[in-house]
Amino acid sequence: MYFIDTHAHLDMIKSMTPEESVQRSLSDGVMYMINVGSSIEGSRKSVRYARQFPNVFASVGIHPHDAEDFGNREIKILKALIAGSEEESAGEESLESGSGKKFEKVVAVGETGLDFFRSLSSRLSQEKAFRAHIELATEYDLPLIIHDRDAHEEIFDVLKEYSSHKNLRGVIHCFSGDLDFASRCIDIGLYISYTGVITYSNARDLVDVAKEIPVEKIFIETDSPFLAPQGRRGKENYPGNVKYIAQKIAEIKNLTLEEVAAVTSKNAEDFFALAPFIK
Ligand SMILES: [Zn+2]
Repeated sequence: MYFIDTHAHLDMIKSMTPEESVQRSLSDGVMYMINVGSSIEGSRKSVRYARQFPNVFASVGIHPHDAEDFGNREIKILKALIAGSEEESAGEESLESGSGKKFEKVVAVGETGLDFFRSLSSRLSQEKAFRAHIELATEYDLPLIIHDRDAHEEIFDVLKEYSSHKNLRGVIHCFSGDLDFASRCIDIGLYISYTGVITYSNARDLVDVAKEIPVEKIFIETDSPFLAPQGRRGKENYPGNVKYIAQKIAEIKNLTLEEVAAVTSKNAEDFFALAPFIK
């Protein structure tokens, strides 16, 4: 039995070095983890960790909070990072040649999306950056990791516009919508991902949704160092805690922990195309 943490920010964990986080998570049964970039610096670190650690994969993107500063320069850097280079020019070369060259351990684009809860960037610039990420993901045939805070309908409307694109794949990270929204997301091919929030005592609505949707559409994630699961709140989160989310899903869906580990790991392996790396 093993787990995959599909969303962690190892670079933001303060109580452990990235090496320590990875080692400790491995001994907790987390075989693979995806380090999700939320800034240029975070995305660079994602690629660096993916090179450094055999069991870490990278996602590159800019958080909607920073959408105000998102432009052509950022797109160019993200393209270079997808190509596995930290040099800005690499993206341009691959763009010119049209080769779409990829570093195969970059497995997703994100986190991107819309955040109308904190609204640190204007709605207009958030939507512009979100669309640029979608275009990047479809161009490089990579899935999207989508941040949705108080923006369900707006996110859905944008994604729906692209839903006929053969390369459009996405997961709603830290899902917070209702069953109707979940069902519509699944209908257009999206996946639903749960963090430690689902373990909280006030998460009854989330539990009700998880009960109804197929486990084949569910991912588990920690969003470390944030959102530590119940019983560990107040402590810094790290990928090893993803087992508590699996445990909660097992309880909700009346499955064994082994079954949830197997299905959610297979979901993530297929979605992020991890197969070539799985030993
Ligand atoms: Zn995150």
